[in-house]
Amino acid sequence: MKKGLLIVYSGLSGVGKGTILEKLMPMKELNLAYSVSMTTRQPRPGEKEGVNYFFVSKKRFVEAVKNGELLEHARFVDNDYGTPKEYVERMREEGKNVILEIEIRGAKQIMEKCPDALSIYIVPPSIEELERRLRERSSEDEQTIMKRIAKAKRELKETDMYEHIVCNDDLDKAVEEVRQIILDEMNK
Ligand code: 5GP
Repeated sequence: MKKGLLIVYSGLSGVGKGTILEKLMPMKELNLAYSVSMTTRQPRPGEKEGVNYFFVSKKRFVEAVKNGELLEHARFVDNDYGTPKEYVERMREEGKNVILEIEIRGAKQIMEKCPDALSIYIVPPSIEELERRLRERSSEDEQTIMKRIAKAKRELKETDMYEHIVCNDDLDKAVEEVRQIILDEMNK
């Protein structure tokens, strides 16, 4: 059986990458498996353990890093995030295309380790639009929002390493573009 793809999927928080992914996940032809990350962040309202993240203590996270359980890991704003290795490898062996929704430094680690990974970065139409979307979501305090915006501006300067940049101006168009990128890679 052909091994599944490793797809690095990134974009600034608030850019709508989660919404795009929700539309892609049920598409059978894409044969996707979502890699659930480990994080030390607190759950947001509605988030579920083992679905959105594995929510762990700092101590457990450090232990996972030490034991080599993570394929990559990075600190984002004030929390740690990492990709459990075992699931990714098992799913790829089963022929599933595994999607890693991760931030840019983790993505860099993956691309160094797995040069054949497919990489996609979602950009907002503008920083102003991103700021508006972040406030609308308003699950975070002003200081955290400002931190995320400052980080966004720095991050956008570093997106060259991604193979594909997709603008989420129109949701359906962005979904279709990402779908096509994955299909093209599967058919290579
Ligand atoms: P949020 O707190 O908004 O859920 O996620 C913050 C950022 O961390 C997002 O850019 C998200 O893609 C990223 N992220 C989520 N899981 C991981 C992971 O396992 N590794 C890395 N490097 N980043 C992650």
